[in-house]
Amino acid sequence: MGSTPTPPPKDFTVTIVGGGIGGLTLAAGLLRRNVPVQIYEAAPAFAEIGLGLSIGPAAHRAMPLIDPQIREIYDSLVTTHADSPGYEKYRQTWFEIIWASGAKEGGLLMDLKALPSGQTTLRRANFLDALVGLIPPEIVHFGKRLDKVVEGVDGVELLFDDGSTVQADVVVGCDGIKSRVKESMFPGEEEDTQPRYSGMYGYRAVLDMEDMIEAVGEQRARVSTMYIGDGAYGISYPIMRAKKVNVGLYILSEKWDCETWVRPAKREDMQRDASNMGRYVQSLIEHMPDPSQWAIFEHPPISTFCRSRVAILGDAAHASTPHQGAGAGQAIEDSHVLAELLGDSRVITAQDVVAAFKAYDEIRRPRSQRVVTSSKENAYLLCLCLDGVGDDEKKLKETFQSRLRWLWDLDVQGQAEQARESMLKFMASREDEGDQIG
Ligand SMILES: Cc1cc2nc3c(=O)[nH]c(=O)nc-3n(C[C@H](O)[C@H](O)[C@H](O)COP(=O)(O)OP(=O)(O)OC[C@H]3O[C@@H](n4cnc5c(N)ncnc54)[C@H](O)[C@@H]3O)c2cc1C
Repeated sequence: MGSTPTPPPKDFTVTIVGGGIGGLTLAAGLLRRNVPVQIYEAAPAFAEIGLGLSIGPAAHRAMPLIDPQIREIYDSLVTTHADSPGYEKYRQTWFEIIWASGAKEGGLLMDLKALPSGQTTLRRANFLDALVGLIPPEIVHFGKRLDKVVEGVDGVELLFDDGSTVQADVVVGCDGIKSRVKESMFPGEEEDTQPRYSGMYGYRAVLDMEDMIEAVGEQRARVSTMYIGDGAYGISYPIMRAKKVNVGLYILSEKWDCETWVRPAKREDMQRDASNMGRYVQSLIEHMPDPSQWAIFEHPPISTFCRSRVAILGDAAHASTPHQGAGAGQAIEDSHVLAELLGDSRVITAQDVVAAFKAYDEIRRPRSQRVVTSSKENAYLLCLCLDGVGDDEKKLKETFQSRLRWLWDLDVQGQAEQARESMLKFMASREDEGDQIG
């Protein structure tokens, strides 16, 4: 029996800017495929705000394809409804949707399932901490805030705000919604690269389960819930083995007239904003501390996720509103496709990476940009004002189901294979061009 031939070593190193969920999952996927990686992260250490995160079924299926350890980490950390004794029957429930305004206030609209995994949530900080364990410390450079990238003939120069520079073969910007890599890709006024206010702001908090039960009762506290109302919606889901509950309240508001994205607020602001929301939301507000207001920003669509040897991934490419719980999932799907392409044994040189980036852009851009649009529409759905749906019970049910089916019923590996086919075509057409010139 012959042994599998060792793939040829890569003639390039992938320089990743930003070590969030996108940067770390990509790095793990590349390292597993023997692709050399360096990471430059602005923060002095890996750090994340400790709020909750929920990942849907498609990204959950992508995790083991990037690296089985990512899925093991995720599954070992997640909270599900089965963490609350007596609530095992909600194992496949994603959210229960409750009317928060109008005549049916307090009643159940639907038990929205997410098959097969159901609601899985974790504290973002715990996930990041565990992902860091997959990355050798010597390839991570902290305290390096990128200012811009400039491509030259032989590679790409990274300029950091401490005045230092680094020469890279190829660069993937995973530097979040305010991506400097993205800005560098579009010098001048060529594209609208600035995040824009999405027309909604929110209040967020983490409550102890006991306080949550006191606020809304056992069932509402233990089962992930969306409270849909006229012009606003609330959300809650258990985290940390159901010891804590992540809570959010989102308000439609055309204007955000503040320079910063977060501003202090008072409980009365929440009460005013949610004055037409029923008893559950009112009671939640009574129990929510620290009522900062968070403006929700998103990315306008851009024409490409790559320029020659530079690409962008995750929020750097397609930051979306959180109304579908899909942003981190999209970063994970990106990482899977890009790791598969760059890890392919036929990708050896930086020129091959250019073809891989093009294929990644071709496959990932349409889907991830549609998620940005559909996430925003989901907010209108949750606020009972989506055109053609409003507060019509039957249409609400159908629309929730069909949107999530599109988001979750993805052939995850099929997407990577499609990208691989495209990449090979780009590589072949480059060779044809070379032959003609030669
Ligand atoms: C309120 C809210 C709730 C959400 N809930 C969910 C949810 O339930 N499920 C879900 O899937 N998604 C959710 N999201 C979206 C999710 O948080 C993001 O999509 C995800 O974190 C994107 O990961 P990323 O790695 O692309 O970017 P980020 O997490 O933003 O990471 C970027 C990294 O780059 C670093 N960096 C930034 N600038 C530079 C620079 N100039 N130089 C070097 N390094 C830099 C940062 O320090 C950071 O480490 C939510 C978002 C919000 C706002």
